[in-house]
Amino acid sequence: MSNLESWQIELQNCVRTVDELEKYLPIENKDRMREVLVNMRLSITPHTLKLIDFTNPNDPILLMCVPQEKELRFSPEELVDPIGDETKSPIPFLTHRYPDRVLIYATFFCSLFCRFCFRRSKTGEANPGPSIEDRDRIVEYLRSHPEVDEVILTGGDPLTLLDSQLEDWFTRIRSVESIHRIRIHTRVPVNLPSRITDAFIVLVQKYSDATHPIYIVTHFNHPNEIAPENIIAIAKLVDAGVVVRNQGPLLRGINDDPIILEQLFKRLADIRVVPYYLHQLDLAKGTNHFRVPINRGIEIMRELQGRVTGIALPRFVLDLPEGKGKVPLIHSYTQKQTDSDWEIESPFGEVVNYREPEC
Ligand SMILES: *Cc1c(COP(=O)(O)O)cnc(C)c1O
Ligand code: SF4
Repeated sequence: MSNLESWQIELQNCVRTVDELEKYLPIENKDRMREVLVNMRLSITPHTLKLIDFTNPNDPILLMCVPQEKELRFSPEELVDPIGDETKSPIPFLTHRYPDRVLIYATFFCSLFCRFCFRRSKTGEANPGPSIEDRDRIVEYLRSHPEVDEVILTGGDPLTLLDSQLEDWFTRIRSVESIHRIRIHTRVPVNLPSRITDAFIVLVQKYSDATHPIYIVTHFNHPNEIAPENIIAIAKLVDAGVVVRNQGPLLRGINDDPIILEQLFKRLADIRVVPYYLHQLDLAKGTNHFRVPINRGIEIMRELQGRVTGIALPRFVLDLPEGKGKVPLIHSYTQKQTDSDWEIESPFGEVVNYREPEC
């Protein structure tokens, strides 16, 4: 029994039922809440529970992880497979949309289930994840596609796997010479920082070197999520040579505010995490109450441009439906006047002329 590691014990102690949740906050209609959990289950880690102010119904972390009846309201534009993962899946558990990189779904389990999850139709415990045969087939696929030089382990959350399971993935991937970079997409450094153990660090170092790095892309959405335990977990990763970046969605009532995002991006830069993408929310079913209009997102980024240090500014992007790919959403600063004359807006709103040499 006691050969479980502390992070595994923490996982066992997550809040997973409506009755457990009721110990923290009043629930008006428990049956309705259970209905919500049929679409996507509940899990809140003990670490994240500690960061929630349950006396504030608008606490940003609470809003991200406590189910709401609003999740049962579907709007017509919402999709089961919002970014078309399935349309570009040549073999099970793999999506190949861009020429040089593939996604591998290592598990569909997560330590904490985010209520806005874009893969909410898949995340949970029902799907056991890739079998040995699936994993063999994935390695074969990588070998027969030498144009792919990067593998992204995603899910679900790959860092909920055991070290031995991760080592199996690392061994397989490193056996394919054309793969240079391994990337792990994970919210574990946010919700379960104790999982970043010394043994995990040793593992990561064993399977990376100066030209075969491991990148971790994590998922902080609000400055309140950066607690001392998180800072320690990130520091361990960065000290071990892991490049850590951050991506996450723009969320209504949670981080759709330039002041909050400025704090988030700067605190991330302080702890050596590079803000990478801010996502326009995907059209997953029952997430409408989290969605911010695209225009508002563009305006927020425009406000931050010039005000916030460039090393802390992510790109605002939209992953188009039907697997069509990611595109930056950006205010247009440039306007061409003549063949050689441009009018360009400064970050402070002035209009500046720029003339190109005539050729
Ligand atoms: C988002 C995504 C990637 C990664 O894209 P980057 O811009 O490199 O972060 C890769 N494959 C698929 C299918 C994706 O959806
Ligand atoms: S960690 Fe990612 S995959 Fe898991 S529930 Fe949150 S958004 Fe979904």
